[in-house]
Parts: sequence; structure tokens; C-alpha cells
Amino acid sequence: MIVPIVPVDNHLLAALPAAKMLSILPFLELMQLSKGEVLAESGSPRAFGYFPVGAVLSTIYLSRDGNCTGTSMVGREGMLGATLILGGNTMPEQSQVLYPGHAYRLPASMLQFRSSKDQESLQVLLQFVHSLILQISQIAACTRHHGVAQRLSRFLLMSLDRLPSNTVPVTQETIAQILGVRRESVTEGIARLLHSHIVDCRRGYIVVLDRSRLEQSSCECYAMDRRPFLRRTPAAKKRDGIVATPPAFAWAAQ
Ligand SMILES: [Zn+2]
Repeated sequence: MIVPIVPVDNHLLAALPAAKMLSILPFLELMQLSKGEVLAESGSPRAFGYFPVGAVLSTIYLSRDGNCTGTSMVGREGMLGATLILGGNTMPEQSQVLYPGHAYRLPASMLQFRSSKDQESLQVLLQFVHSLILQISQIAACTRHHGVAQRLSRFLLMSLDRLPSNTVPVTQETIAQILGVRRESVTEGIARLLHSHIVDCRRGYIVVLDRSRLEQSSCECYAMDRRPFLRRTPAAKKRDGIVATPPAFAWAAQ
């Protein structure tokens, strides 16, 4: 049975007040996004905000010498283009599709809050902006202070939280780009995880066999990312044996 995709599959959209949701509904456009697809170039105006409902999106900082580093990752718990809420419409990072799937896109003009009547909606979206700032700060600190092996485990765990299964459809080349390290370092890290039977590798895929040991091999940064995630993701609660009770988006009010 094919389950239809609906806007409230995105947790942030689902947390919006009903009146706001009804007002933006005609402007939401469901997009099928391909792996590696660039949604916005570095420095270019953001024409849309993207609300994933299956896809996982990332922002990548590209330096002039061609090196790159991932600065954030977002799935159905949030949105890409949060800067639009704050009144900006350009970002230094490139926005691209990390894992393929669907996302709703919404014109930038619908994400600008000029009316005080929209304060309730703004509050919901700012809660997400806060969690995104925490994630970006945590990744910056992680990149400076923690080793490639720990960061590799953190990246895989963050991916698992946003994917429907324990299979992460990613190449070592992409992981190296996201972590901003040499591919050889990623190969070494994955070899250690393979040797410990924590993951299995197939062409273009990494299958996580032992999540708890993967968590043990990560740095504390993952726990920081996961804490707010547990409050807002029914799937993560179910996986961890935490009873998810509706409304599933109570995090927005916390
Ligand atoms: Zn770390």
C-alpha cells in the first residue's frame, strides 16, 4: 500500500498553527529531490524554503581552494532556508540534497513575518532556528576538537535519525566532503567500524549493524544533537522504546 505524502509529514509544518498552515497550503509544492542536487548556490538569493518529508538536506561551506565542509543537516524535523525567517535571503553555504527523497518547497515571501498576527507561527519557527544554531555550533566545535573516527560515527548517527532504516546511502567520498577530511581518513575509520562488526559496507551504502556501539564510538556532540531530536521525532522515540504520544510536536512548545 502506498502511503500518500502530506505536508504534516514534516514535523515543523505540523507544528504550525492551523490558520497558518491553511494559508500556506496552496503555496506548498511537493518536490522529488535527487542525491547531490544543488538547491541554492553559495551567496545566491534563496527563492524557497524546503521542508523535507523523506529527503535529507545539508549545507556545505565551499572554500576558494575547492575544499568543503558540511555545516548542517536537516530532515523531516525541520527546514532548509531558516535564514529566510530571520529576514535574510542569502547564505555563504551551498544547499544540497544529501539523501534523496521528497520535500515541500515554499516561496521565500511566505516565510517572512511582517505581521504581529503571525507571532505564534514565528515562535514555532524560531524554536527550530534555535535548534539549528545549536547544531551548527556543535559541528563547528566537533570539527576543531574531535578526531575523524568520532566525527564519522556522529555523522552516521545523525543520518540514521533522519533516515527510515539502518541503511545510510552514502559514499566514502561524500562523507569525506561533509567532514572536510581526506577520503583515506574516512576509509580508515570505516575499516575500524567494519572490523568491529558495527557496520557493513556495500557499494554506495553503509549498513549500521550495532547502533549502541556506534554511539559509544562517537563523541559527546552526537548526544547534544540527539537531545532535542528525541523531543520532536516520533520515529526516534519508537526506535528507542520511548512512547510517542500525540501531539508529536510538543517540542515546539517547550
Ligand atoms: Zn564531536
